[in-house]
Amino acid sequence: MKSYQEMTKEELLQEKAGLEAEYAKIKARGLALDMSRGKPSSEQLDLCMDMLDVIDSKSVLKSENGTDLRNYGIVDGIPEAKRLIAEIVDCKPENVIVYGNSSLNIMYDQISRAMTHGICGNTPWCKLDKVKFLCPVPGYDRHFAVTEHFGIEMINIPMSADGPDMDLVEKYVSEDPAVKGIWCVPKYSNPQGVVYSDDTVRRFANLKPAAADFRIFWDNAYCVHHIYEDKQAQILNILDECEKAGNPDLVFQFCSTSKVSFPGAGIAAISASAANIADIKKQLSFQTIGHDKINQLRHVRYFKDRAGIEAHMMKQAAIIRPKFEMVLDLLEKEIKPLGIGSWVNPLGGYFIGFETLEGCAKAVVAKCKEAGVVLTGAGAPFPYGKDPKDSIIRIAPTYPSLADLTEAANVFVTCVKLVSVEKLLER
Ligand code: PMP
Repeated sequence: MKSYQEMTKEELLQEKAGLEAEYAKIKARGLALDMSRGKPSSEQLDLCMDMLDVIDSKSVLKSENGTDLRNYGIVDGIPEAKRLIAEIVDCKPENVIVYGNSSLNIMYDQISRAMTHGICGNTPWCKLDKVKFLCPVPGYDRHFAVTEHFGIEMINIPMSADGPDMDLVEKYVSEDPAVKGIWCVPKYSNPQGVVYSDDTVRRFANLKPAAADFRIFWDNAYCVHHIYEDKQAQILNILDECEKAGNPDLVFQFCSTSKVSFPGAGIAAISASAANIADIKKQLSFQTIGHDKINQLRHVRYFKDRAGIEAHMMKQAAIIRPKFEMVLDLLEKEIKPLGIGSWVNPLGGYFIGFETLEGCAKAVVAKCKEAGVVLTGAGAPFPYGKDPKDSIIRIAPTYPSLADLTEAANVFVTCVKLVSVEKLLER
């Protein structure tokens, strides 16, 4: 098969006519499908329903330290929940604060407190002329929305298959004291599924920031979210690496059980050095007397430990794997030979980051929409919603049924081909 780049104008025109006929047929079907939502399917959520039975009106709601969990108290999480989180991210329980139901909320709080009160005694960011954040792209739109909300200037850092471009990161961080942070999703990144290499993690841990209050916002959202049983990525432990590098305070690590148990009803946590944890706890005590300790206990009683979480995630993997494989097989078969797209085959996480020919992403998303298939808006995975090459599309295969997803993925493939042909004909 010839790639589109190798085709003559006449061959492209012929291809275009065929694709237009195919597209007209698709449109006539009046589809209403959605590949935009990075949410678990109801089948995945069903797996966790028994968690709601582990606590009832007869349960003894006491922590292992004797605290009555029905009452106020314990601002940093019950000891057994700290231990569960510590096992998930492989750190010491004393380095963990368990919060409420959302890690994004913790990230927002970290930035909000840095703005108003400062990190570890440093000048509050709101008193500075300029605050900047590095944003590996493509990345998670809600990260960028938080920094934009606080008026923080965002700087794009290109991603490679090993993680962010570390030469650029090192340069910005060491030279500019206005650079206060970087967003990272180190394992199975949103949206490309990239896993940071050991070298990348070590270079992060060894950063020499110009700002004393520079922090790496290490959002380990997908740390246990594998797609396969036999192919699982491992990343180096950032807290350990920072400690080894003599930079223990450099990182805030976030995680949650949103996509382990229930989004919106899981437990979320931050892990960091002793100095950071003490600083956060001091400020947190003005915000709350304690989070939902009954939900923390429910999670511990249900999952018990890391092995319990891992076993549960393998059940989820069995549900999402066929969906990812169907999309990846279709792209491999239909798109790869034509040379009109690239992607990383993810081993975990929730997304496939599809890269079109330059200048095609918006048009593909629009064409899909016209044919009844909703995708995440082009540009969403970039600061300010601006994809400089207009080429990244986030595909979220988990939520629809396999049948709906198969239809949607076929529509997507037709739209990518059609838009690519049109683009190449413009040359
Ligand atoms: N971080 C990343 C990278 C995510 O993809 C998501 C959810 N899609 C979140 C955080 C949100 O997590 P939570 O539900 O804990 O707020």
